[in-house]
Amino acid sequence: MQLLWDLGFRSPQKEKRVLQGIHAVIGYCQDFEEQRDRLPYEIDGMVIRVNDFSLQDRMGMTTHHPRWAIAFKFKARQATSILRKVEFQVGRTGSVTPVGKIDPVPISGATISSLSLFNEEFVREKDLKIGDMVLVERAGDVIPYIVKPLTELRTGKEKEIHFPTHCPICNDKLVKPEEEAVWRCVNINCPAQVVERIIHFASKDAMDIRTFGDANTRKFFDLGFLKDIPGIYHLPFDKIRELEGFGEKSVTNLQTAIEASKQQPLHRLIFALGIRYVGETTAKILAASVDHLFEFRDYSLEKLQGLEDVGPKVAGSVYQFFHNPDNLHMLEKLASLGLILQSNRSSHPQGGNLNGQTFLFTGTLTRLKRAEAEELVEKNGGSLLTGVSSKLNYLVVGEDAGSKLEKAKKITSIKILTEEEFLSLTNI
Ligand SMILES: [Zn+2]
Repeated sequence: MQLLWDLGFRSPQKEKRVLQGIHAVIGYCQDFEEQRDRLPYEIDGMVIRVNDFSLQDRMGMTTHHPRWAIAFKFKARQATSILRKVEFQVGRTGSVTPVGKIDPVPISGATISSLSLFNEEFVREKDLKIGDMVLVERAGDVIPYIVKPLTELRTGKEKEIHFPTHCPICNDKLVKPEEEAVWRCVNINCPAQVVERIIHFASKDAMDIRTFGDANTRKFFDLGFLKDIPGIYHLPFDKIRELEGFGEKSVTNLQTAIEASKQQPLHRLIFALGIRYVGETTAKILAASVDHLFEFRDYSLEKLQGLEDVGPKVAGSVYQFFHNPDNLHMLEKLASLGLILQSNRSSHPQGGNLNGQTFLFTGTLTRLKRAEAEELVEKNGGSLLTGVSSKLNYLVVGEDAGSKLEKAKKITSIKILTEEEFLSLTNI
């Protein structure tokens, strides 16, 4: 920290104290919290560390964090504002979420004007009304929410919040399964859900189509360029080029990223489909269970439940998905567009599952030694490159990765993996 400070970086060199005993530590944290408003920067807490390597060794680690370093979070920041109206947003699974619009109010460095009211129960429990003065807090100084209405300030002009009985987007009747807290639009063609599904499909943890973000998806959908997930693969680029803010370069990048996403492994595609209750882990289990995605058409509920970690809820949802003709039709389209529906255990029957792929490692790996990781690539049929170029398929990033990562981020066809992702790719 001294070195960083001397070199001119911002570092907490001046605030740092070495203290004897926990009482002195507590006192110093409290002093700081009291001064918080007079400081020339935003601060939401302090970090306490044991500054003795041998003691650090003795204290060791939990699975998540070292026992010798911990954050002391200051009390959440609060402010008051007026709840002006409530809008209802339809999510990817049709869930209808009430969103409160308040007069903009600054809380720890951000201006809050919109916040989730979660569900009907939350609104009823808090007894919220439109026109209420409300106490707003940023929990953990990140997600803002309403702590309570200040009912003592009511004038009698406040209005009840009415929950819609029909979808605000497609006007279908909403339903609320007994065991759930949210109302849902169950029309799978509801435009709001279709857009959210496309956004999820392209997102980083799913098909990872870079530059194809939230805003672009909504824009293309509103302009009629995009109606469904397969539509991503035949966007009218001639028309997109004419849109404001789309230079030749950004269109080319988008095209490259979309094309590259066709090579994503099956588990990413399964996750990207947004089947309810199927997260990344379940998607990997499903992908590893079949040679081709269409095998799930013939899976019974019992057979699905026989898979590792798949309970009745997940099994029911997967079963339903693969028995819906619209979904199967969509998958056929995706297959004909060149997306991979085979699991990599069948596409590379001989050799390893990294056949023909190129790899480069950067940063410090934590589970494997560099040499072991490289050996693993070669043993599985992949090959190693020495530098970042367009010939590279995968950059595996360990801790403290530097310039190679920066360089790789600029080449959209390179897939960037964590060590964990690399290990799951090699099926260890
Ligand atoms: Zn709807």
